[in-house]
Amino acid sequence: MAKTAQPAHGAVSRFSRLPSVSLLMEEALRAGSTFAPQALARAAQEAIAAERDAIARGDHPLEGEREQIVARLVGSILGLEQPRLGWGINATGVIVHTNLGRAQVSDDTAAAMVAAATGAIPLELDPVTNERGGRMSEISTFIRLLTGAEAALAVNNCAAALVLALSAIASGREVVVSRGEAVEIGGGFRVPDVMRQSGATLVEVGTTNRTYARDYEAASGEATAAWLKVHASNFRIVGFTHAPSLQELASIARPRGIALLEDLGSGAMLDTARFGLAPEPTLADSIAGGVDVAMISGDKLLGGPQAGILAGNADQIAHIARHPLARAVRADKTTLAGLAATLRHYARGEALEKIPVWRAISVEPVALRVRAEAIADRLAESGVAATSQSSTATIGGGSLPGESLASWSVALTTADPDALARRLRLGTPAVFGRIERDLVVLDLRTVMPESDGQLLQAIFGASR
Ligand SMILES: *Cc1c(COP(=O)(O)O)cnc(C)c1O
Repeated sequence: MAKTAQPAHGAVSRFSRLPSVSLLMEEALRAGSTFAPQALARAAQEAIAAERDAIARGDHPLEGEREQIVARLVGSILGLEQPRLGWGINATGVIVHTNLGRAQVSDDTAAAMVAAATGAIPLELDPVTNERGGRMSEISTFIRLLTGAEAALAVNNCAAALVLALSAIASGREVVVSRGEAVEIGGGFRVPDVMRQSGATLVEVGTTNRTYARDYEAASGEATAAWLKVHASNFRIVGFTHAPSLQELASIARPRGIALLEDLGSGAMLDTARFGLAPEPTLADSIAGGVDVAMISGDKLLGGPQAGILAGNADQIAHIARHPLARAVRADKTTLAGLAATLRHYARGEALEKIPVWRAISVEPVALRVRAEAIADRLAESGVAATSQSSTATIGGGSLPGESLASWSVALTTADPDALARRLRLGTPAVFGRIERDLVVLDLRTVMPESDGQLLQAIFGASR
């Protein structure tokens, strides 16, 4: 039998201390609320209802006089008026942090997105001829120049790219996937589910650890539309393994009229092995390997805004672009402008200096050490207990699992690390770190050096 919540001892008297909606509205306005009457009234109702629930559960933290209760409710209303998704500092040491919005974009990318959002842009207009068209032309140009693909299309994310490609190419037909690649990528994205959603039938071949080209061949027939390769982004199968090369698969698939698709996920454009990391396949590798359509995310290792890019064979991309779903998942103008600005960094050979993801991957540990020591010294001079220490950063975002980069951190000593971490998260700017052995650890690999001053001020603010 369900247990009914009983008001905790003394709750009845505390209910009576709850303010009326109109009193709370008045107090909120006096405290500087900027909400219009109807929004403010609903915010006041919600705050009072939440308070009543907390009292009923008996888990109310504050015994509270009426004035204290009103002040707290006013605080929660004013909290709603603050932007929740304001600028903050990722000091977690996880470069592509999913919970913190994945890739941070370059200044040029951000500026391009603002320009596209606030001004008129020739999104579907050729300014030379004044004719319609060209929504994807800039993205397509850069992808051609950077990867050797014939054409490209941008959509909302890589998941949408895969659903779209499968819907356009394989709906009502079969798609062959290696058993080791019929995986879950994260956030509820499972290859078998995506396949079903696209109207294609999944045909699994091989075993979890070893799949050969002959397995794909044996499973293919009249009904086969495509072979799909899925990059194992967030896990690894090591040891006794085999997967056929793309070249091998392409040479067999092509004469049979079977499309070879690859979901690469991370979207690396540069060689990760240069930085002591495991090699991550690049979009150019995939195209050179003979894939018909490759799919990547815009906001993982590419380091741009959230997007998905389909790149490959011009006929296949044109066919996919004509599918009705393409209209439903197409990238918006700010994304297109941002992606183009990000891709331009690669075209200019300046990605390591400009794109935050690659700046974080490529920075030398000694530079991080110098910054960590300088920040810790400044804090210590002002009486904040801080030291610098070596640490370990990771790529995150479901890319390069198990790979790490040597880093340096500022470690804050405090009696209550959870409380300090919370004040940092709620500060302006917000700072996100981690707690390790009772220290609040702020890893500098994911903090851009131009943000060090703001980081310092935020730590001062939270340590008061
Ligand atoms: C991350 C990932 C996806 C999903 O990408 P989104 O851009 O988040 O939709 C799909 N496939 C692979 C292999 C991935 O790593």
